[in-house]
Amino acid sequence: MSIKLNKIKKRFGHQIVINNISLEIFNGELFVLLGSSGSGKSTLLRVIAGLIQPDAGKIEINEKDVTNLSPQQRNTGFVFQNYSVFRHMTVQDNIEFGLKIRKVHSEERKKVTADLLELVGLTGLEKRYADELSGGQQQRVALARALAYKPEVLLLDEPFGALDVKIRSQLRKSLKEIQNKIKVTTILVTHDQEEAFELSDRIGVINQGQLIEVDQPDKLYNYPKFEFTAAFIGGGNVLVGRKEKNFIRLGSTLLPFPEKAPPHDDNAPVRILFRPESVLLSTKEFSDDIYVLGRSKINEIKFNGSFFRLFLDVNELKGVQALEPRIAYGQNTVRIEAVVPGNNITDEILDSNQEFWLGLKNFHVLQPTGLKLLIYIDHSSIDPSFVEFGFSLAQATEGFACLLSVVNSQSHHSETFNHLETIRQSHQRYLNLTSTNVRQGSYTEEILREAQEGQYEIVILKREEEPTDYSSKALQILTVLKLPVLLVKNPHSQIQRILICTAAGEPGKEDIKFGGRVAKLTGAFTTLFHVTRKSSSKAELYRAERHLHLGKATLEALNVKSEIKIEEDDNPVNKISSELQKGQYDLLIIGSPAPKTTRHLFWKDLTRKIIDVSNVPVLIVPMVNE
Ligand code: ADP
Ligand code: MG
Repeated sequence: MSIKLNKIKKRFGHQIVINNISLEIFNGELFVLLGSSGSGKSTLLRVIAGLIQPDAGKIEINEKDVTNLSPQQRNTGFVFQNYSVFRHMTVQDNIEFGLKIRKVHSEERKKVTADLLELVGLTGLEKRYADELSGGQQQRVALARALAYKPEVLLLDEPFGALDVKIRSQLRKSLKEIQNKIKVTTILVTHDQEEAFELSDRIGVINQGQLIEVDQPDKLYNYPKFEFTAAFIGGGNVLVGRKEKNFIRLGSTLLPFPEKAPPHDDNAPVRILFRPESVLLSTKEFSDDIYVLGRSKINEIKFNGSFFRLFLDVNELKGVQALEPRIAYGQNTVRIEAVVPGNNITDEILDSNQEFWLGLKNFHVLQPTGLKLLIYIDHSSIDPSFVEFGFSLAQATEGFACLLSVVNSQSHHSETFNHLETIRQSHQRYLNLTSTNVRQGSYTEEILREAQEGQYEIVILKREEEPTDYSSKALQILTVLKLPVLLVKNPHSQIQRILICTAAGEPGKEDIKFGGRVAKLTGAFTTLFHVTRKSSSKAELYRAERHLHLGKATLEALNVKSEIKIEEDDNPVNKISSELQKGQYDLLIIGSPAPKTTRHLFWKDLTRKIIDVSNVPVLIVPMVNE
């Protein structure tokens, strides 16, 4: 009996508890829904059982639409965490209860009950009252009762949650055996990873009402697609590097970009996962088949009885962003976690002055992210549409956004942090992909630091009426970090059309390349726009056309739909302005000058003028001056 969920949604008040979940559970499968407390597991299970009506979506059991059927009509067996047996009834009466309601003949009832008692290992206890049983035995009764009327599917909500460790592990084993024997399609909900791994045919990881990823346990552990899974399951090291041709740059270390890894854009962030047991330590240099991370010293050792967990600082990884293990406040180096079996510990490891080469047996590249956005907001400002635009851009590209404020004294820190969190929480639908941070120091410097440390791809600033408010920050980000800056004013709710204004030739390539990434991730239709001077020679015109055609080809390679427009005017700003007026664009992308070029001032002026005439957000892409 398969279970199919199609786009299930449920809110309680303003809180989205089930966020568009689609999922298929196969016939006879033991499926575990794994998530932390409050992630929506119980709600989803109750939706399937018919105890809660979803706001939207469809539920099928065995190809039959049961969305509007009552719980009884759905024929599911349900076991709750808190013993759901009737305590004043005997074991036998408990198990027969559902059968009596269904008017099953007494002889048949006796037979079914005897079989079930055998199955759950309670034969001989049928006359006992439920409250004379241990917690584990009561749950066995609950299971037998749920199975008595041969439900099509079995739904178990943390059934072992209230039991102690030993009983829990016995019951797990029994459940697995029983499920194997009768092959009833089962969903078990738990927050316990060990339980999920031991029992499941497949695991679905759920977080804040979203189904993050579904796979077999070993696949989820070794080859997760998403950062959340990588961090949530097992201990792990997740670092963020950058794609550099066929390599991944991590600080001063280069790892080969694996052939089978999911494709990444050039220069895009690359997140790699390696488990502590893949980390190797050696006092000598490694042979060729080991990926070398660099030289390190052990910072901390923890012993858990069978393993030593080591935390190592690696010189070569200075400045690299680590997502896991989380970096503690004030810590300035990446810390790598490794494990060594207790009986393999050596004096060298216990010697805190010993330097080791750190290597990897293997590593895994996660799915590329969408855009990583840093949204700077003035701590006193509240502008919902500005923040909303940044968050929705992160969501549209399956990326991530961080709200940053900078304060000039420690005393404003917590107040500002609360302010940012309030703003973030008020955009509920983006909670999964947003975070907040407050830094202390001088504004521009701290924005630069955060942008660099966090490997952000775009810094978003609010475009104030007064250009000086944003221009110095923007210029520094563009020239010092060479990061694109998005200046936001009059944002639309979606990005469907992009206008890229490009100069002909070398400098124009960057804005098309980066603009292409934005267009690809947002799915927007893109217009490549170029203005030539009236006095342009044939050769100049030809060069411009060629540049745009190559640009269009570049976009096509990214699957971005585009068109080309060339206009003539001695003042490009005029034409750009009128194109913006008539084109219903949602985003304008322009290039900024590379620093130290002779045309810097002129370009800066032109860039400024274009920004001034734009009635939509402007993304300024720094020119790379190689
Ligand atoms: P889990 O089983 O994963 O711990 P639940 O599905 O029980 O999570 O709850 C998910 C969220 O939905 C919780 O944050 C909880 O506050 C909210 N919630 C659950 N049931 C209700 C309800 N009946 N009314 C209001 N909020 C609810
Ligand atoms: Mg629950």
